[in-house]
This record gives sequence, C-alpha cells and structure tokens, in this order.
Amino acid sequence: MKKSTIWILTAVMAIAVLGLLFVQIMYMENMIKMRNEQFYEVVMRSLYNVATNLERDETKYFLDQDLNEAQKSFAPLKNSAIGDNDFMSNDFGVDSTGSSFGAGNKAFSGSNLGSGLNSSMNRQEILKKQYMYQKSLLNEVVLSILNHASDRPIKERADSSIVSLYINQELQSNGLNMPFEFAIQYPSRNFAYCTDGYEASCEDKCEIYSQILFPNDPNGNNKTLNVTFPTKSDYIFSSIKFMLPSFAFTFILMAVFTYTIILAFRQKKLSEIKNDFINNMTHEFKTPISSISLAAQMLNDPAVAKSPVLLKQAATVITDETKRLRFQVEKVLQMSMFDRTSATMKLQEVDADAVIYNVVNTFKLKVEKFGGTITADLQSDDPIVNVDEMHFTNVIFNLLDNAIKYRREDVAPQLKVASYNPDDDHITITVEDNGIGIKREDLKKIFEKFYRVSTGNRHDVKGFGLGLAYVHKMITLFDGSIKAESEVGKGSKFIITLPLLK
Ligand code: ADP
Repeated sequence: MKKSTIWILTAVMAIAVLGLLFVQIMYMENMIKMRNEQFYEVVMRSLYNVATNLERDETKYFLDQDLNEAQKSFAPLKNSAIGDNDFMSNDFGVDSTGSSFGAGNKAFSGSNLGSGLNSSMNRQEILKKQYMYQKSLLNEVVLSILNHASDRPIKERADSSIVSLYINQELQSNGLNMPFEFAIQYPSRNFAYCTDGYEASCEDKCEIYSQILFPNDPNGNNKTLNVTFPTKSDYIFSSIKFMLPSFAFTFILMAVFTYTIILAFRQKKLSEIKNDFINNMTHEFKTPISSISLAAQMLNDPAVAKSPVLLKQAATVITDETKRLRFQVEKVLQMSMFDRTSATMKLQEVDADAVIYNVVNTFKLKVEKFGGTITADLQSDDPIVNVDEMHFTNVIFNLLDNAIKYRREDVAPQLKVASYNPDDDHITITVEDNGIGIKREDLKKIFEKFYRVSTGNRHDVKGFGLGLAYVHKMITLFDGSIKAESEVGKGSKFIITLPLLK
C-alpha cells in the first residue's frame, strides 16, 4: 500500500470517527439541557403550589380566628333576636375547619320554627341577616389579612414541617422523588430558618430554586422559599447513562483504528528497511567478492605464481576480504536472530573482563588504522556474570564498532573500555569514545528498533538502526541495564551494569 493511500484512509476514518463523536456529544448536551429545563419547570411549578397552599392556610387561619370572635359576639343576639331559633349555632354554616360556608338546614327545619312564625317574610329576614353576617365576616377576614398577616412571624406563617410536607407532596405529585434542602430567606438575605443540610448543599455551585412567599405582603418585605437538590446532578446523569456504552464503543473503535494505522505505517517502514537492507548488503558483499575474484585471477596468472611477494599479496587480500565477508554474514545472522534471541539464549558463567579483553584486542588493528588508540582498564573483582557468551561478545563488539563508525573525521579515535564494581553485587562496563556525539533528543531514542540519527553528510556510514536495539535487548535479558551519556562534538559513553554471579 502506498504511503499516500494510508494517509487518505487515516484522514477519512479520523473525520468519520470525530464526526460520530461530535454528534454523540451534541446529542448528550441537548439531552442534559432538556432534562435541566424539565427539572426547572417541575420544581418551579411545585414551589408555586407550595406558596399557594401556604396562602390558603393563612386565609383559613384568619377565617377561623374571626369566626371564633364572631361566634362569641353573636351569642347574646342568638337568644334575644331570634328567640327559640338556633340558626346561629354551629350549624350556621362554617364547618369546624372554617373552610366552607353554607346555611345549615337545621335553621330552616319546620320543627324548629313555630308554625305562626314560618311566614316567607321571616325567611327573607333570616337570609338577609345570614348574608350580612357572612359578608361582614369575610370583609373582616380580608381586612385582617391585609393589616395583620405580615405582622405574624414567618416561622408561624410557614412552619418548617408544613413547608417540608408541602414541598414533598408537590414534588412527588409532579413525579420528582428526590431529597431536597430548603430555607426561608428575608429580603436582607438572612435566613428565617433553613434545614440542616441547606448551607452545606450550597457550598459548591449548587442551583437554588426560589419562590416568593406571600407576594401580597407590603412592598420590600417579601420572603423567599429557597430549595436546593444535592443529588440533582446524579438525577440528570442517570437520564444520560444509557449513552455511556456508545461512547465506550466509539473509543474502542478509535483505539483499534489508531493501532491499525500504526501497524500499517510500521509494516511500510519495515518493508522499506528490508529493501534498504538488501541494497546495502548486496553492496557490502559485492566489494569483497570482486576483490577475492581479482585475487583469484592474479593467482591464475603464471607470472604471479612465480613471485612469492605477489602470491603473499593475493593471499592477504583473500584473507582480509573473507574476514569482511564473515563480519557481514555475522551481522545478517544477528538481525535474523533479533526476535527469537530469548529462545536461543544459553546463559552460562562468563568472565566479563576476559570477553572484553578479547574484543578490545580484535579492535586494536582497526583503531590503529585510523591513527587512534584503544585502552582497556579492567578493574573489577571476580567479574563472573550469567550471560550468553556469544551475545555478550556481540554487545561489546557492537558498541566498539559504533565508536569507530561514528568517529570524528578530523580527530584520531580514542576508545576507552573500563570495568569496575559499583557495589559488591554488580559490575559496570563503560565504552567511551571521542566521536561525533549524540544530541540530547536523539539520546532518548537510540535504543529503539530502527532508530537512526540522521548522520548529515556522512554517506559512508551504513546501518539499520538495529545495533543498539540489539544491545539493549540483550542487556535486559541478562537482567542488567544500559544507559548512554553524550555531548555533541565531544564523544559518547555507554554504561552497562550487570549483576555478578556469586
Ligand atoms: P546503526 O545501524 O545506525 O549504527 P545503532 O542502533 O547501532 O544503529 O545506532 C543508532 C544510532 O545511534 C546511530 O544512527 C548513531 O547515530 C547513534 N550512535 C550509536 N553509537 C554512537 C556513538 N558511539 N557515537 C555517536 N553516535 C552513535
């Protein structure tokens, strides 16, 4: 697949998934908004009913009071004006709660009024008096409410237990069954009273629903009933809970998609690396093969066969180039082994210093070729480690190979290998060079598979970004650790720490 195709697919898929997410978020936002509006409407309707109930209670209170007083003041009249008629008794028409009126039938029963007095004139007279009485009673009630209602303490007018009961009833009849806290507040913002949890429920951004109580009280003296719902957010959340799985599925889709794209890019990079690798290898193999074939041609020449000097020269070329070929083959093997090393590892007791010493020796010639030096400062006591000898050798070899590969052109390479014991249980091995160094941002990534620092103008440096990844993997399998320190233009230092085998 072409890189551009992967990018187009990524873009299309990203737009689709983001669009889906956007629609889901919008839908959820609208749901929350609608729920909030619904909630607000229900609560305000309920509180309005609570306020109306309280006003009705107050009217009832004054009606009861006036009725009691009226009954007291009408008592003498009952005996003198109407004689044996008892229509001013309780049957007069106000029930015990004072909430309904109506003339008691008893007042007009034929048995109670004498036959001579039962004329229509009398009945009209009684009705008129009754009407006048009720009218004056109501007038008085209205006057009392207008003049004295607001003088009553609010705690009496709106008793907390009654208010709580009314709120509960109204909310439940509107289908809202949830805990609430409430308070009655003066215009001065002081509380007449509030429930225990009211202030706590208002601490962090709570919504207060307010309703004016007794709106006909004189101006500027309006109290408000404030209600809060501590569990409101849970209530709103419960109505959008069903959306959560759809979000989860979208995120899973996004994660799987992202992973697939990463895999596609990785696969693409891998195939590019494979091609690079084959090209490089062909090039690397071609040079020694052509040198060897030249040497073979020389040997076939009878003139050369007679000259021992030329013979020796041809033999040297063949030996050197074979070595080079073997090194290249070794590298290919290392690469092919990269992913299945843990299966092929043979851990055994190995003298770390002995291995280092041997590798350093094989590098001496190479370093001297560039006019440089290599020193081994092996100071560790009893440096026995539990490693695979072949892989451990490769590790030291790779580090020294890099130190030469990434040398500075203008300075002779100075390589230092050292070993010491940082404590009784470990050995530390350092490989130091005075090469080109590594930038800080690259330093974090050099141990990643296929990571290569762009080497600028240095076309002669070939590599696949696998050497240090291999080193890192091996050291980790040996239960050790590796880190790198470097300064651009000065050199690099690789520090390996391994546990000692005691
Ligand atoms: P490569 O095949 O490119 O050498 P490595 O994994 O061995 O891959 O190294 C990764 C990168 O780290 C290299 O591209 C190189 O830039 C940098 N590097 C490794 N060793 C050294 C060193 N001793 N000095 C400077 N740069 C180094």
